[in-house]
Amino acid sequence: MRRPVFAANWKMHHGPSDARAFLRSFLAHYARRPDRQLLFFPPAISLTTVIDSLKERQDIRVGVQNIHWEDKGAFTGELSAPMARDAGATMALVGHSERRHVFGETDEETASKVAAAVRAGLTPMLCVGEKLEERERGETELVVLRQLRAGIAKVEPHAIGTMMLAYEPVWAIGTGKTATPADASAIHAVIRRELKAILGEKATGIPICYGGSVNRGNAQTLLEASDVDGLLVGGASLDAEGWSSIVRT
Ligand code: PEP
Repeated sequence: MRRPVFAANWKMHHGPSDARAFLRSFLAHYARRPDRQLLFFPPAISLTTVIDSLKERQDIRVGVQNIHWEDKGAFTGELSAPMARDAGATMALVGHSERRHVFGETDEETASKVAAAVRAGLTPMLCVGEKLEERERGETELVVLRQLRAGIAKVEPHAIGTMMLAYEPVWAIGTGKTATPADASAIHAVIRRELKAILGEKATGIPICYGGSVNRGNAQTLLEASDVDGLLVGGASLDAEGWSSIVRT
């Protein structure tokens, strides 16, 4: 059964008190549904609060927004995958466009982070997506495939089969501009084809989420597009009532 993924990326919002209040309200609006996969990516400081607030709701998974590629060491301010796992996270976002373009993370570093997540038993959600100028130069496919191939280069095929992917065109993130369902579908099909070339039919089971200005108004049509298996949502996941209505889409 296809179970669409609804992933909330809170970015640098919702410290522990806000996170607790959000989940109290959200859980009052959202009853367990076996036909959905729900994920929360809170800021690291709120991770244990979120895990604690969801202890009766094992149907909802929690992940970190970023990890370091080393397991430990002198990396002030960083967070390792084994630490995130120890705190109860089961997932990690890797290669989010803000990591790539605000913090300058390279494809090589992204690949090392994917490998670190897999080593620690976290499911990586690898994000790929082109910038506006790359899209205007007609390089969308090229960029997405480069990021995808590089991002999975340091893990074995069986581990790739357990990952999640997210296509997030950079020009659509936080801008109010959304890819059309047809555009999203076309790029998701490119990603799927590449994964199939490596994994065969197993690639059919890898969820490929779309992200970029998803809201209550466009969630349904995006989810209906072929090869769109879920949504990765920033801004519209910050309000408990709004997010609960999106996840019931
Ligand atoms: C994101 O942060 O991954 C994202 C897609 O943000 P937004 O929904 O705000 O565009």
